[in-house]
Amino acid sequence: MSENLPTAERCDLDGRRRVRIRCVKCKTPVILDFGSMDFSTAINRLEHVAITPQECPGFHTELSGWDFYWRFDEALALAFPEDFTGPIFRP
Ligand SMILES: [Zn+2]
Repeated sequence: MSENLPTAERCDLDGRRRVRIRCVKCKTPVILDFGSMDFSTAINRLEHVAITPQECPGFHTELSGWDFYWRFDEALALAFPEDFTGPIFRP
């Protein structure tokens, strides 16, 4: 996998707001799909995901901290540029 790939990029599909991020820990691409969520709904959803124990597609399991590993602030800035005014998860 090329190191020149962006850490985060918009990748909408069929009108769904989507962002492809590269995990901070393992560099594996992960797609965050916001569908038709509005900004506040997306934040609420991410706040839940951030503290949910799960496995990254790059095969490491974490109890929490997905807001850091999966760059939630960068993802929100790309997916909701009209609403994003600054970092929310890691100000
Ligand atoms: Zn990972």
